[in-house]
Amino acid sequence: MVVPEGCDPIIEVRDLKVNFYTYAGVVKAIDGVTFTICRGETYCLVGETGCGKSVTSKALTRLIQPPGRIEGGEIYYYPEPGKRVDILKLSEKELRRIRGSEITYVYQDPSAALDPLYTIGYQVAETMKAHGLVSRIKEGVRRAVDILRTVAMPDPEVRVRSYPHELSGGMKQRSVIGMAIANRPKLLIADEPTTALDVTIQAQIMDLLLELKRKTGMTLLLITHNLGLVAEYCDRAAVMYAGRIVEEAPVRELFKNPLHPYTQALLKAVPNPLARMDKLESIPGSVPDLIRPPRGCRFHPRCPLRMDVCSRERPPEVLRGRGHRVACWLYTDEGGVAGG
Ligand code: SF4
Repeated sequence: MVVPEGCDPIIEVRDLKVNFYTYAGVVKAIDGVTFTICRGETYCLVGETGCGKSVTSKALTRLIQPPGRIEGGEIYYYPEPGKRVDILKLSEKELRRIRGSEITYVYQDPSAALDPLYTIGYQVAETMKAHGLVSRIKEGVRRAVDILRTVAMPDPEVRVRSYPHELSGGMKQRSVIGMAIANRPKLLIADEPTTALDVTIQAQIMDLLLELKRKTGMTLLLITHNLGLVAEYCDRAAVMYAGRIVEEAPVRELFKNPLHPYTQALLKAVPNPLARMDKLESIPGSVPDLIRPPRGCRFHPRCPLRMDVCSRERPPEVLRGRGHRVACWLYTDEGGVAGG
């Protein structure tokens, strides 16, 4: 595992395994994922849909629902430096105190996260009341005005009395972010927070999240398939493929010197508006069926550089430079080309 120098961890995940037990078979959704998020940073999990980013983020507070199950590994949360909480050993009651309070989530679709029957003010107030920040909903609604102002909601005094259907997509997402920051979380997990929004609103929401992070000192875990967001907003990123982390590096290093053939292919597939392009690059093949994942390196059926060993054995993680790790046989003695 690679932890940057001076990192004060807030989350540590070791060898996490999550399976889903379906009628079709066991989906090995997360297969040995290891990473550390440092306090105060913006860490990103990036990859195609279905690669396991959201499942990983949900596992951090044991939000995996049946037929899913955490099958192995360790998850530690550090509410403050030196104080370690074993998430997998907490009782459900203890976990509820952390979830929605110290660790909160913002999801892709704000409409699904809001209850259509209650006003925005009530919903923000309810979050605060559930975690003891206010004793009465009335008091919470009063404080919700300030929270809505913090998330740059236009006319917060009016909007606090609005129902979700009266708000635009951007306003709904601001409300959800308001609910997520109401209890002053230490870690905010934003799972594709801008995917359902149009491009200008996307930038506003991302700027807002970063601004809130700067003001409150919270840590941000961003889940996205959008490499543009990674480049612009993240400090470090882990690239996931088929339930595994294949590469992790500081963002600048990842874009300058991508090592894993999957990361390289992803970056090549990003259209360059300044270059003349006759056709868009794509990655041949499709993401594997995780009921019967490919043996060895899960990317091998699509990898142009695969070797014999790739289809036999799982590639080890190799450290290449400061904070840069890659799971690929190319960078081992067996690999030859880039190895050593
Ligand atoms: Fe390609 Fe082999 Fe590296 Fe997998 S381990 S990415 S198949 S070279």
